Amino acid sequence: MSVRGYVAHEASAPLVPFEFSRRALGPRDVAFDILFSGICHSDIHQVREEWGPSTFPIVPGHEIIGVVTQVGPEVTKFKPGQRIGVGVFIDSCRTCDYCIRGLQQYCSAGMTPTYNGLDAQGEPLFGGYSNAFVIDQDYAVNVSEDCDLAGTAPLLCAGITLYSPLKHFGAGPGTRVGIIGLGGLGHMGVQFAHAMGAHVTVFTHSASKEADARALGADEVVVTHAANAVPQSGGNFDLIINASSADLDINPYLAALTIDGVFCFVGISGRPFSFDPTQLIGGRRHITGSAIGGMVELQEMMDFAAEHAIVSQVEVIEASAINDAYERTVASDVKYRFVIDASTF
Ligand code: NAP
Ligand code: ZN
Ligand code: ZN
Repeated sequence: MSVRGYVAHEASAPLVPFEFSRRALGPRDVAFDILFSGICHSDIHQVREEWGPSTFPIVPGHEIIGVVTQVGPEVTKFKPGQRIGVGVFIDSCRTCDYCIRGLQQYCSAGMTPTYNGLDAQGEPLFGGYSNAFVIDQDYAVNVSEDCDLAGTAPLLCAGITLYSPLKHFGAGPGTRVGIIGLGGLGHMGVQFAHAMGAHVTVFTHSASKEADARALGADEVVVTHAANAVPQSGGNFDLIINASSADLDINPYLAALTIDGVFCFVGISGRPFSFDPTQLIGGRRHITGSAIGGMVELQEMMDFAAEHAIVSQVEVIEASAINDAYERTVASDVKYRFVIDASTF
């Protein structure tokens, strides 16, 4: 299948139009027309090789929403005309303990990424900045027929990345949750934590986002002015999730945790962080991290979002605006996710 998209040929190059092929439809595959594709900061990190070497050419994009056009003979989960979503991985080994437990994102053999990787034949995997896709039915989710599609695309990465640790670490009534960084991930986290019943505090270095944070469900907003500013809050947090793409001093946040409190990284600046162990010892506190979510949890999150009318606040752009959108995302100048209208590829 021949498709159109946008590609980066090398780390320093802008993304440009690109024609390429998708694999032929296998028996368990679903082909779909992409309608919207979100721009995640991880796309930018990888195109710019901020996490180490990438596999070029890269067609980024792992927040993909579309409508099914064709299904293989063994497909039971989708029919032509149905809405479909694809996130950060398109396959995994399916046999390791983690895959069997539904934690495909932690597959022992490594999940197969939607892009910036190779398929079993050694061919590059191309992501969602394009107008069509082919996916094994087991690695796609159903999308509510009622939701706003552009606003739902970012759930496939930004949404699940915050939903998963909030759920795992028990966000709910009576808990205090802090979210650092009101970007694509952070603004989904505020909505999910609020819907789960937690008391939510947003730490943002952008004073202009304070009103939005409250409108999204934050009970408190702390403007930190700089990435490493001391959070001026009451403390006693059960869970603080770092959803910032930047480096920051985490020690003040560790000090703000309650006993047994959890500081969870989801943001990946690509550089190491340092911390003072006495901040952990003094309260039996934990530092951890979390990656996206497994397939069952991804569907659960999509359904939870549909039930609670949770969507991303998006700025829909044409494909020709991708490079400008990258600059604005890095400058924290997006409220709160760029989503590409795939009809413009
Ligand atoms: P984003 O939309 O660019 O948001 C990042 C936020 O970080 C910004 O909105 C800003 O929030 C804060 N920030 C950025 N630069 C800063 C600076 N210089 N100083 C202080 N704060 C700064 O990015 P995103 O798409 O949400 O992704 C966030 C991070 O998570 C990225 O590193 C991404 O790669 C990573 N990620 C991880 C996973 C996972 O599975 N763990 C999945 C997806 C993405 P304020 O303006 O509110 O301060
Ligand atoms: Zn992402
Ligand atoms: Zn596995």
